[in-house]
Amino acid sequence: MLKEFHDCAQEMMDFIEKSPTCFHATANLKEMLDKEGFLELREAQEWSMEGGKGYYVTRNDSSLIAFRIPVLAPAGFHIAASHCDSPSFKVKESPEMVVENIYLKLNTEKYGGMILPTWFDRALSVAGRVAVQGAEGIETRLVNIDQDLLVIPSVAIHLNRDANKGTELNPQIDLLPLYGDCREGYKKDNLKNRVAKAAGVEPEEILGQDLFLYTREKGRFVGENEEFILSPRLDDLQCVYASARAFIDSEPKKYINVCAVFDNEEVGSGTKQGADSTFLEDTIWRIGEALHLSRSTVLRMVAESFLISADNAHGVHPNHPEKSDPTNRPYLNGGIVIKFHGSQSYATDALSAARMRSICQEAGVPCQTYANRSDIRGGSTLGNISTSHVSVASVDIGLPQLAMHSAVETAGIMDTKYGVDAFKVFFKA
Ligand code: ZN
Repeated sequence: MLKEFHDCAQEMMDFIEKSPTCFHATANLKEMLDKEGFLELREAQEWSMEGGKGYYVTRNDSSLIAFRIPVLAPAGFHIAASHCDSPSFKVKESPEMVVENIYLKLNTEKYGGMILPTWFDRALSVAGRVAVQGAEGIETRLVNIDQDLLVIPSVAIHLNRDANKGTELNPQIDLLPLYGDCREGYKKDNLKNRVAKAAGVEPEEILGQDLFLYTREKGRFVGENEEFILSPRLDDLQCVYASARAFIDSEPKKYINVCAVFDNEEVGSGTKQGADSTFLEDTIWRIGEALHLSRSTVLRMVAESFLISADNAHGVHPNHPEKSDPTNRPYLNGGIVIKFHGSQSYATDALSAARMRSICQEAGVPCQTYANRSDIRGGSTLGNISTSHVSVASVDIGLPQLAMHSAVETAGIMDTKYGVDAFKVFFKA
C-alpha cells in the first residue's frame, strides 16, 4: 500500500519539477488534459459544448479552468480551486548590474512573501515567458534556462557576527543573485541572449518578459523511513496536482466538475487572472450559455454547487509546537486539513465542514482541523475570494506542510494521495 503513496508523491514532485513558474504549471496541466482528450476553448471565441465531454480555458497562460460536462442534465457545479504561483523573485527589466568591473549580478524584486534567508547559497535559475512578435500578433514563448545559473551568496559570519540574531534583509541589497564574471577571457552572454536561446527566438525579437528565479532542487524523500518529502513550491502545486489528477481521472454523473487553478494568490489574487477576477464567474456563465441554459437555471445550479478551495495548511512544527492552536493540530501524514476561521478568512462553516468530512469518510481518508492560534493572524487563501464572485457553499482545506514559503518546503509522503482520493469522491457525483 505504501508504494501507491510513494508513487503518487513522486508523480506530484515530478509535476513540480517541470513547473518552475505558473506559466509552466499551466502548460503542464494543458498537456495532461490534452492527453485525456479535453478540448481547449478560447475566451475570445464562441463556445459550443456537449454532455459527456471535457474542456478547458486559460487566461494569461497562467490560470486555467477545466471542466467536464455530465451526459445527463447537470444539477450544479463541483469546483476545486487552487493556485499555481509561488513566492519568488521577479527579474526586473534591464537586470544586469556590474560590481567593481568583476561581478555581474541581476536586479530582482520580491514576488510574494517568502522566507528570505532560505534563498541564500543554493543553485537558482531563471524561468517564465517572453512575448515576441508573431505572424498574427504578439505571441508568448515559455522559457526555462535549465542550468545552475545563479546563486545569492550569504555574507560570511566573520563579516557579520549578527548573522544569527535575526538580521533584517534588504531585497535591493542582500538578495541580488550573482550571474557571472565579466572580466576579459570569460564568455559574455547577457541574460537576454540566454533567455532568447532558451525560448528559441532571437534576442531582438523579445518585446516583453515575465521572468522569475526558481530553486534548482528536485523533490526528494527524507526521514528514517522516507516519511516526508522535501520540495520547492509544495504550496500550492501539491494541491494543484492532487485536484487535477482526480479531476482528470473522474467521470461526473450529475454535476459539472470544475478544476480551477489560479495565478497570483501570493500577491493578493487581484489580477485579471487571479481568484479575485471574473474568470470563474465568466466561465460559469459561458458554460450555461453554451448549454442553452436560462439565467435562472444557472442560478439554481449555482445554489446546488460546492467549492473546495485547496491551499496547503500549516502542520504542527516539531521545534515550535506552541505556534499551533492548542486544540486544532494537524500533522504531516495525517490527511486532509479542514481550515476554520471565526472572522471567515476561511470559507468553512458547519455545513461545508460536514460535507468535506463525509467526502473524506467515503474516500477512507483521514481528516484533521486547523485554526490559527487566537493571537496569531495567519494567512489568507482563495476560498472566500472566489466565492465573492461566484457565491457557492465552500470549504477551505489544505494538505499539511512545514516551512511554508521557504525555498524548499516539507510535507508528508501520504497526504498527496489522500488529497487525490478525496477529490475523486467529490468528482464522481
Ligand atoms: Zn498557498
